[in-house]
Amino acid sequence: MAGRFVIENACVLTQNEEREVIPRGSVLVEDGRVAEISESGINAGAAEVIDGEGMALIPGLVNAHSHIMCILLRGGLGADRRLMDWRLNVMAPGQVAYTPEDAALSVKLFACEAIRSGTTAVVTNERIPVPLAEAMIEAMDDSGMRSVFALCFNEMSPSGKLAERAHSHIAAWGKTFPPSLKTRDEVFEETSHLVDKYHGRSGGRVLVWPGPNIPVYVKPETFREVDEWAGERGLRVSTHVSEDPMESEVGGLPVVQHLAAWGLLSERLVAGHCIHLSEEDIRLLKESGAQVVHLPSSNMYLGSGVSPVPRMLGYGIPVALGTDNANCNDLVNMFWEIRLACLLHKGVQQDPAAITAQQVLDMATRNGARALGLEEEIGSIEVGKRADMILLDMSGPHMHPNHHLPSVLAYQAHGTEVRWVWVEGEPLMEAGRLSKISEDEERTIREEAQAASAAIVERAGLIVPGT
Ligand SMILES: [Zn+2]
Repeated sequence: MAGRFVIENACVLTQNEEREVIPRGSVLVEDGRVAEISESGINAGAAEVIDGEGMALIPGLVNAHSHIMCILLRGGLGADRRLMDWRLNVMAPGQVAYTPEDAALSVKLFACEAIRSGTTAVVTNERIPVPLAEAMIEAMDDSGMRSVFALCFNEMSPSGKLAERAHSHIAAWGKTFPPSLKTRDEVFEETSHLVDKYHGRSGGRVLVWPGPNIPVYVKPETFREVDEWAGERGLRVSTHVSEDPMESEVGGLPVVQHLAAWGLLSERLVAGHCIHLSEEDIRLLKESGAQVVHLPSSNMYLGSGVSPVPRMLGYGIPVALGTDNANCNDLVNMFWEIRLACLLHKGVQQDPAAITAQQVLDMATRNGARALGLEEEIGSIEVGKRADMILLDMSGPHMHPNHHLPSVLAYQAHGTEVRWVWVEGEPLMEAGRLSKISEDEERTIREEAQAASAAIVERAGLIVPGT
């Protein structure tokens, strides 16, 4: 059980309903929850005291859509390739060459970088066999992060026009693509096994959802069965919506309208990307309460397009934020996503007021919590909420001057300012040192990641640029 401690004299970005910022605040944490917030100090008796002088205390960042396992496939392997080329000639064959040990190692490497840059909660989408999924979930639990594992699946390969268009720009099409398709029965067997075994583990810190990967590769009947099954169990459903123009229609309907026609748009649906949308699509997303996750780095990296995020925010859709695959980003640092989300939409719309720093910070905190169905528990620093928080050192030259904390965090922070990280009051980083991983272990993780990645490249026959 997490201890009792107080953070004193920190500038507190509460992210509460009023977006209150307390210039010199104290926050008491008891039993993993925020017990008291004060502008005039807290006499907490024997509680441990952390001096927040010159620091900012903000809610932990929520990465609402990622693919952690791909992290061993970064380092140049996927760079400068089109989506289908990247997906079918790097990601898919690479992932097939992973061992369960590689899967667990990917989580450890991810956790080192993500915790150091202030992420406290993450959703990972993985289309992998059960033994690898188990290795990942165990490692995610060990990391101390709040985590959701979504077991992705495809039922069908691309066919017809979609296959033709993909084929036209992928030389190796049909040679290296491992279909890894699942039948409806396999999907239910594997998902229920993982949900029964892990969902709700560690006091609810570890969650498991189903993940029908991309609507165009999943039969609508199966998608609907999975969605109903998830609804009966209080689970969400993670998917990809309209990332690539090639996948933005199903059976002649825009994908959002296809999902609506099958009754699949609901608060349960956590839809990554949502790039190629019409006004009607946005209206349907808003009416249904579906969750939308914006992935700016990935969308730029793969040239997928620009999601109409300001329009969605204008409709009142609480868009969340994520890093997507760790090998089409290639960072897992949410501060980069915040900065890029701010800048991207201003540039594309030729309007510096298209989106604000406060809106994007909301995406990375409050809206992320809502995407996970945890808006009552995390996403802001408020009495009674779980203490998922980060404390940033604001002393660096790049953080000066500082007049408006949301703007400074969005445009000036690198993520390296994060010094303390807590999930449910449990420290994951203390004064710049990871709590659950020693410096020696961290060095070993880096070395093992390099060696494991090289071995995967060898086994999968991946092409290293420049060789
Ligand atoms: Zn994704």
